[in-house]
Amino acid sequence: MTIKNFSLYKQASKQWLRAADFYQLESDVRTILQQPKNEISINFPVRMDDGSLKLFKGYRIQHNNILGPYKGGIRYHPMVDLDEVKALSLWMTFKCALVGVPFGGAKGGVTVDPSMLSGGELMRLTRRFTHALGSNIGPEYDIPAPDAGTNDRTMAIMMDTFMNAQAAYNRNSQRHVVTGKPLAVGGSLGRDKATGQGLVYILMEWAERNKIDLSQCTFSVQGYGNVGSHAAILMENMGAKMIAVQDHTGSLYNENGIPTLQLKQYVLTNRGIAGFKEAQSISNEEFFECEIDAFIPAALEGQIHEGNAGKIKAKVVAEGANGPTTEEAEAILKNNGVTILPDILTNSGGVVVSYFEWTQNKTSSQWTLDEVDGMLGRLLKEAFYQTHKISKEMDIDLRTAAYIVALKRLTSAYQERGIFP
Ligand code: GLU
Repeated sequence: MTIKNFSLYKQASKQWLRAADFYQLESDVRTILQQPKNEISINFPVRMDDGSLKLFKGYRIQHNNILGPYKGGIRYHPMVDLDEVKALSLWMTFKCALVGVPFGGAKGGVTVDPSMLSGGELMRLTRRFTHALGSNIGPEYDIPAPDAGTNDRTMAIMMDTFMNAQAAYNRNSQRHVVTGKPLAVGGSLGRDKATGQGLVYILMEWAERNKIDLSQCTFSVQGYGNVGSHAAILMENMGAKMIAVQDHTGSLYNENGIPTLQLKQYVLTNRGIAGFKEAQSISNEEFFECEIDAFIPAALEGQIHEGNAGKIKAKVVAEGANGPTTEEAEAILKNNGVTILPDILTNSGGVVVSYFEWTQNKTSSQWTLDEVDGMLGRLLKEAFYQTHKISKEMDIDLRTAAYIVALKRLTSAYQERGIFP
């Protein structure tokens, strides 16, 4: 999002350029990665329930595809703009390269508040946006997935719209045009919880290296959507306690632990955490001041900033959201000895299981939940190991180290292929 002179894309660029300096990245790759390959922006009309026609703006930014087809979510949010989607697409390129899935990076979005639209309006918006994207997406070219404001149902509609525009004999081979679909139409077991699950796997790796028993830990969560709620439930299953939680409707606290599953069910019917009886309401300031072991930002970007970073007393910040920590906040956290488990590593579980779903679709197969979780765990363990190793060897923070692991893969691909023509 662009607030006054702030550019999220600039912030994201600074992160990888810092890594590029440490890694002494060769100049051609540095030049190529400066800007996305394609920036598609579309204005499209949607018939509203009252009969009027409204124009919406949507984007698909294709950042890089040297390692495989473009890949990344579609966001529906009122703050969506070109700058934000560009940043999110850049993070996808590095995320996929870091964890070693054969995808490039992309992101899409529509500037809309989905909570203000009826089910019918949302469906028409999704269909018309997908239609407008046309052959800019495709199962071997650019593969969308859910993000903030979209879900498995959005993906089912996107898939259906895309398939219906193909020749009849070709339709059934196009299912993997999107991932994060419902199980009934080619989704994967474990995709729903994948980002939260990945986050917990990364926290486990961190805890092991720091001799911390996660089952005895307390944590707080910001944002109780797909990522936050699944992470919280999985943490509670291991014995950890969620002491505080915050979303756009307020902040809650309970020193004995807030029941995570019950809260998820409450949010489904009440569209927010406010009013949940098993915890007491606290102020935004109190939320950030809570004594906890792990802080899990799982909402939108820029939520940890210079105004609140100094209040965070956690040992670790596990970034479930994309770009939740501003540059200034990062410096404050580092100064206070708080470890940051960076977003491109910590929230990569979603795209990893998207890759498993895509593979299952291509081979007309269905993996068990144990297979999905097992493979996810192994991939993330390896990504953490590589990141941690570079961080120790070069004496740099985990974020910069994660970007270096990714840059190594991207650079090797460019070196092997050369730059066309
Ligand atoms: N939107 C998710 C992310 O930011 C998932 C992307 C995907 O599965 O392609 O990583």
